Amino acid sequence: MKKPIRIRFRKLGREKAAGLAHTKDRLIELDPNQRGFDLLDSSIHEIMHIQQPDLSEEAVIEFSNEMADLLWKLNYRLVDNHRK
Ligand SMILES: [Zn+2]
Repeated sequence: MKKPIRIRFRKLGREKAAGLAHTKDRLIELDPNQRGFDLLDSSIHEIMHIQQPDLSEEAVIEFSNEMADLLWKLNYRLVDNHRK
């Protein structure tokens, strides 16, 4: 059984990326400044890099965009219960 994929939120302005995938560590990092569809899309994108490390960037973009579009059409949304 593979280790579970870990998710970390970190500002990635210096890396100029919305997300990063560390395939060896099975860790994805997501920039917390993303909202709505963009966060859904980059989450799926980075998860796919871990699951299918041999896929080209173009294939990951194509598949993750399609997946995000479909989930969005099914009305999947992030519920943000943050309260301060
Ligand atoms: Zn990518």
